[in-house]
Amino acid sequence: MDHFNYRNDELYCEDIPAAALAERFGTPLYVYSKATLLHHYRQIASAFAPVDPTICFSIKSLGNLHICRLLASEGCGFDVTSGGELFRALESGGDPNKIIYAGVGKTDAEIEFALNTGIAAFNIESEEELENIDRVAGRLGKSAVGAVRINPDVDPRTHAKTTTGKKESKFGVDIERAERVFDHYNGRLKHLRIGGVHIHIGSPVLELEPYISAVTKMTDLIERLMKRGHKIEWFDLGGGFGVNYRAPDQARPITEHARVLLPLLMNKPYRIALEPGRYIAGNAGIALSRVLYRKQGGEKKFVIADIGMNDLIRPTLYEGYHYIWPTHIPTNRREDYAPAGSEKVDVVGPVCESGDYQAKDRVLPPVARGDLLAIYTAGAYGFAMSSNYNHRPRAAEVMVDGSEAKLIRRRETFEDLVRAEREV
Ligand SMILES: *Cc1c(COP(=O)(O)O)cnc(C)c1O
Repeated sequence: MDHFNYRNDELYCEDIPAAALAERFGTPLYVYSKATLLHHYRQIASAFAPVDPTICFSIKSLGNLHICRLLASEGCGFDVTSGGELFRALESGGDPNKIIYAGVGKTDAEIEFALNTGIAAFNIESEEELENIDRVAGRLGKSAVGAVRINPDVDPRTHAKTTTGKKESKFGVDIERAERVFDHYNGRLKHLRIGGVHIHIGSPVLELEPYISAVTKMTDLIERLMKRGHKIEWFDLGGGFGVNYRAPDQARPITEHARVLLPLLMNKPYRIALEPGRYIAGNAGIALSRVLYRKQGGEKKFVIADIGMNDLIRPTLYEGYHYIWPTHIPTNRREDYAPAGSEKVDVVGPVCESGDYQAKDRVLPPVARGDLLAIYTAGAYGFAMSSNYNHRPRAAEVMVDGSEAKLIRRRETFEDLVRAEREV
């Protein structure tokens, strides 16, 4: 469910025509629907309500302060992966008691920042990191709390670059080693209490089975750990729930994940945490881009749009699929939809890289210079992964609430691009 719908043959975001937003704020433009964002957050909260989870929005998926403030005001916590993300979570009014910090390469300065902030927990990815957090906490005279990230060795059946819970990945401690790690470190670390276990298997996960398998392995592990005298207070399931990139019903609604996972998690003597990013943000945002030119290259037809790989890198980085359609022609948003007269084109951008494309061999109705394209499901890992490559100022971001549109990040200027160099 989202609030990007066609009315009178024209795409609207909530109650505002997409074309009006592009006219007012320029392109490329990220447009978020407040109602969609809140709908997804509340849907997760209610689906998992029987285990009263702590929900920590993965800030790396969409970090805009205004978006994060909105989620914080709903009671949402944050999952951060760097000092910069922690800073953002705090700037958004995030409650430190609901902030958890993951990542394989936390620096001492970042660990200090988190300890001084008083975050809820570190998700700790290796033995050396356990020792280091203990050391830094000791130096500061603080006590740290952490969960060990376990690599449950399941295949999430997603892209290799977003697979994180298989044995060969850099993330977490192998599940076979988990008991030894707990036995070795429990009681030995004076300034770090290990109170939980954490997994994050990859993203986007479209099937139910990888979660069932990972959660079953983990609840078994927790039982074994508790039998060995380890106190496990919480189990953090991570994020990764898939969204609708190719059709409005491609992904499982979160209620289906909850239906199969809740029986595995109910009536346990530990708390549950979730770290959704994409599920909350993905379908809540679109990118708008203006067609600049058309051209033919050999047999191929190109649509050259003003959105570059620096603005939206998922297609070229992950072979990510985003549904793309002109805003003035209605569609059912299914990848196989092709009205009469459609043609096969590559949608490419202005960046000087042959990898700068949003779609290859895509069937679209004929579009012309000046037409507006909507790139759907761009809310997560869209703006968040954008860069200034080719010295392109980053796009503006707008949040729509009914018939009101609010600029939540102004478009960068050329001055912004050189500021940090001028200031030295
Ligand atoms: C990226 C990440 C998430 C969020 O993943 P989504 O696919 O956006 O839900 C959650 N936890 C950790 C540790 C992550 O790295």
